[in-house]
Amino acid sequence: MPTKAFAAHSAMTPLAPYSIDRREPLATDVEIDILYCGVCHSDLHFARNEWGMTTYPVVPGHEILGRVTRVGAGVTKFKPGDIAAVGCLVDSCRDCPSCARGLEQFCQNGAVFTYNGPDKHSGGMTYGGYSERIVVDEAYTLRVPKNLDPAGAAPLLCAGITTYSPLRKWGIGPGMKVGVVGLGGLGHMGVKFAHALGAHTVLFTTSEGKVADARRLGADEVVISKDEAQMAAHAGSFDFILDTVSADHDLNAYLALLKLDASLVLVGAPPNPQPVSVFSLLFPRRNLSGSLIGGVAETQEMLDFCGEHNIVCDIERIAMHQINDAYERMLRSDVKYRFVIDMASLKG
Ligand code: NAP
Ligand code: ZN
Ligand code: ZN
Repeated sequence: MPTKAFAAHSAMTPLAPYSIDRREPLATDVEIDILYCGVCHSDLHFARNEWGMTTYPVVPGHEILGRVTRVGAGVTKFKPGDIAAVGCLVDSCRDCPSCARGLEQFCQNGAVFTYNGPDKHSGGMTYGGYSERIVVDEAYTLRVPKNLDPAGAAPLLCAGITTYSPLRKWGIGPGMKVGVVGLGGLGHMGVKFAHALGAHTVLFTTSEGKVADARRLGADEVVISKDEAQMAAHAGSFDFILDTVSADHDLNAYLALLKLDASLVLVGAPPNPQPVSVFSLLFPRRNLSGSLIGGVAETQEMLDFCGEHNIVCDIERIAMHQINDAYERMLRSDVKYRFVIDMASLKG
């Protein structure tokens, strides 16, 4: 099916209208008319080939929420008219030890990501949510609790799961002091989740104008990370720090804030290597780790958690043609706190 989309054709050119082909729904496929798609900083990294792994043209977008229009004969999860969501994954082998553990993002035979991944159906690359519709195997679709605002729920599919998953894996809860670095799309969800899980939550920001918002979103304390005295006051005191920063920054400054055996977990993905002094880790036996999105079952768990706690993202709606300006604003940390594309603007 010919499908309207927005694509980048090179690292140097703005995103522009493009037509892609979506397959006819197969037996276990769900066809979704996309209502909203969140704008993740990873979309910008990919559009501009900042990680050196982009195949052009690329249609970004992996925070997808829409209405089911058709289902294959074998689909049990949805019927036409239902709201359905798709995150960062659209396929995996379903057989390897990672898939068996519900960690499809680490599929040992290659997870198929929602865009810029090898598409076994078309023989080309997968195309993401900056488009009118998507066709996805129901095993990689998610249900969205009915009480959540659909536009605000869309970015949960990446910003939500990427912050929820490490907070759960590292057992965050009451009695723990948890830091979140960066108040962007991921960071503001990290603050909401750490607060909802009962941790004492501290937000680190470079933007003085975000202090009041951070408190409203659930931070117990806010630290301006450029202020050395404010940073030093927290030395050796954190159980866990989640780093969502998208650009070069000093990891050693955050490692210095960890207690014995505590962890700094990176989810932000700056394109350049970030130097770490071995001595930041040796004493007192600190951990440095990373985390990548989350598996399908955990993404559903996160959505259900958001339903119970009435958590959605704080968003600014944009039309599809505003995407290039939105990327520039995202680079200036000028978004509160996630752009969401109203896909009606593409269909009109
Ligand atoms: P975003 O909305 O642009 O937020 C990034 C935040 O980082 C900014 O709001 C800013 O917060 C802070 N920041 C930006 N430049 C900085 C600098 N030079 N020094 C210090 N802080 C800086 O981006 P996002 O969508 O949340 O994504 C963040 C990163 O996570 C990106 O690299 C993205 O690719 C990556 N990501 C990873 C995964 C995963 O699975 N691991 C999933 C999704 C995204 P303040 O203004 O508060 O300082
Ligand atoms: Zn993302
Ligand atoms: Zn697998």
